[in-house]
Amino acid sequence: MKAAVLYEVNTPLKIEDVEIDDPQDNEVLIKLEAVGVCHTDLSFMKGEMPVPTPVVVGHEGCGIIEKVGPGVTDLAPGDKVISMVAISCGKCRYCAEGRPTMCPENLNVQMMAELPFFKGKRLHKGDTDLHQLFGLGSFAEYCCVHERSVVKVRNDAPSDVVCLMGCGVTTGVGAATNTGAVKPGETVVVYGVGGVGLASVMGAKLAGAGNIIAVARSKNKLDMALELGADHAVNPNDVDDVVQAVKALTPDAQGADVGIEAAGVASVMEQTFASIHNGGRCVLAGMAPMEAIMTFMPFEFLLGKRIMGTVQGDIIAQVEVPRLVDMYMDGKLPIDKLITKTFPLEEVNEAFAAMENKEVLRSVIKIT
Ligand SMILES: [Zn+2]
Ligand SMILES: [Zn+2]
Repeated sequence: MKAAVLYEVNTPLKIEDVEIDDPQDNEVLIKLEAVGVCHTDLSFMKGEMPVPTPVVVGHEGCGIIEKVGPGVTDLAPGDKVISMVAISCGKCRYCAEGRPTMCPENLNVQMMAELPFFKGKRLHKGDTDLHQLFGLGSFAEYCCVHERSVVKVRNDAPSDVVCLMGCGVTTGVGAATNTGAVKPGETVVVYGVGGVGLASVMGAKLAGAGNIIAVARSKNKLDMALELGADHAVNPNDVDDVVQAVKALTPDAQGADVGIEAAGVASVMEQTFASIHNGGRCVLAGMAPMEAIMTFMPFEFLLGKRIMGTVQGDIIAQVEVPRLVDMYMDGKLPIDKLITKTFPLEEVNEAFAAMENKEVLRSVIKIT
């Protein structure tokens, strides 16, 4: 089967014929139909985040289960599933507390790019074993993953749209609804409105925000934010001081109740924090390079301001993803508007180039 392999950071992905094993205990083999192109893949491909190579990248996959391994009882061939960037073991204290995205298994999967629970690799090119980014490796015709890495969704959901639930959409929506816990009527500012930030705008709208401010340098992205429910758009290129321009749009110019950073830039994270009022909540959803450093005045924390990190929007995937898919199918969460282009697997490098050149909001690889 074909897969997109990263042999060395900062080199193009190679579409290769590779061998894939049958699913072993508690694993499933998925015939992939569509995979979202997420900036997180690019962070690993460029070496901004460490990853062992050779590795099959891609993590926002949606497809149909073809085979199940021994011990799989809740999934069967023919089920449509979405692969989740965050895995949970279901047994640790975080999983027991209802905070599955905090599961320590996540870090193991991310650092080793192998199947969870130290189960190794299922992809091979000749004598070489290939890693699977996030234990997934979705830019491929098939993937063999742990059953806890996937969520079953309704079969009539279009794979080339709902694949975005695997990472970007759930991260953005959850940053607003779960981590930021936006309340009806609140003012929310979203810095960076690519795929994740636009999902945050939609999440804030779903939560009943009274006033949503989108900040970005791209007119296209700001226009889409306005279409998806933002009340105001601020382009830093057009104002002297972006923080003051945002605050001027909040009640008594005190700042937003909730700030969400989805650009993945340390200086923008500082601006997001500066844009919330005393007692406000700042959610950092963007992924900055590993070596990035932020600077804050400790005094501001004495004013009750809070900064919160988030892993995949703090979602409980098995509960929330099927719900979000239903909302999309009912026209209440128009995530299809985020997708501006589709590519075949053979053009995966072109898809990343289009992302870097800011030609697309979000693109999807369709696997035929
Ligand atoms: Zn756990
Ligand atoms: Zn992602």
